[in-house]
Amino acid sequence: MRVANYLFSNYARKPFELVSGEGTTLTDDSGKSYLDFTSGIGVVNLGYNQPQLNQILLEQSQKIWHTPNLYENHLQEEVAQKLTKDLDYLSFFCNSGAEANEAAIKLARKATGKTQIISCINSFHGRTYGSMSATGQESIHEGFEPLVPGFDYVPFNDSKALKEKISTQTAAVMIELIQGEGGVIVAEKSWLEEVVDLCQENQALLIVDEVQTGIGRTGSLFAFEQFAIEPDIFTLAKGLGNGFPVGAMLGKKQLNESFGPGSHGSTFGGNKLGMAAASKVLDLIEEVLPTVSEKSELLIAGLQTIDSEKIIEIRGLGLMIGIELKEEYSAAAVLTELEDKGVLALRAGKNTLRLLPPLTISKEEIQVGVKKIKEVLETSE
Ligand code: PLP
Repeated sequence: MRVANYLFSNYARKPFELVSGEGTTLTDDSGKSYLDFTSGIGVVNLGYNQPQLNQILLEQSQKIWHTPNLYENHLQEEVAQKLTKDLDYLSFFCNSGAEANEAAIKLARKATGKTQIISCINSFHGRTYGSMSATGQESIHEGFEPLVPGFDYVPFNDSKALKEKISTQTAAVMIELIQGEGGVIVAEKSWLEEVVDLCQENQALLIVDEVQTGIGRTGSLFAFEQFAIEPDIFTLAKGLGNGFPVGAMLGKKQLNESFGPGSHGSTFGGNKLGMAAASKVLDLIEEVLPTVSEKSELLIAGLQTIDSEKIIEIRGLGLMIGIELKEEYSAAAVLTELEDKGVLALRAGKNTLRLLPPLTISKEEIQVGVKKIKEVLETSE
């Protein structure tokens, strides 16, 4: 069935359905296969039909699917321990990136007793009221006003603007380290240093949204490890369950007092199936992490051989890569041509092709993908 008669039209869907996946390959309902450079928008970092993840979900599903957060949950403790490593954080589990950011915003306000949250223009933090209010894109706010009060926006990578906006009334500064939906824009280290200093001077918390950059996407478990900063709060989702819906908000231990019993919660948050999946993801990702930078270099080097006047810039970190195209060449049209050739990729920002392959992609698959992207960018109008 090609026409969605029973659904809201809030998604512009392609007229085919992906019905199975294996590693980096997806198959649609007509039997056509695709090399996947989307990971389901940064989710399936360990690839499709991962046998150990299938097995752990099967095992957990035969024990118990769900228990309320009224009882101990050793799987939540296990995932939290694997996430925090040697760092000084506590975890709260939820079901999506937007929910993780809601929790971060609530915790920041409660802990500081202040209300102003500063985020960046072109950021993306989610679609719920709090996370949408943090999202610095008018097109996403349109028709949904009034937003949650207290949000202000500054340009990304602009210390002067932040200096003008931040004050001792600021509860938190909320940033992505690579603006994903905003066009794969990487934060500058010097800007981040100033962000950290300004937060400290104003007793504001630093919230880092790692929903897209986290769980190995950039080559380290969390992107902030590579930027040499330590956020007060950070959020995860997407890759944490490899496709099973799991989100997490992690905050420094001293914030615990502000998130005492009854302060926040979620019926499904930390669900046994989600936690079983996340725990296994965190084991498996350890083997994959050391391979990401080499694959990234191979992918970037391949893309740099593309001889096309359409390209403005190739940028990114790890396996989160953007190819910005000149305005007169439509990224959407390039994506359709790629799709015809059996490669799925994404669009971000105004006119950027976004590549987010599973981190388990092979070098051969990278070469095949690069060849097809090259064909499309070098030959199409
Ligand atoms: N934050 C970032 C950086 C994202 O990229 C996204 C989704 O693309 C979200 C938050 C929202 O996550 P979710 O769609 O799981 O609510």
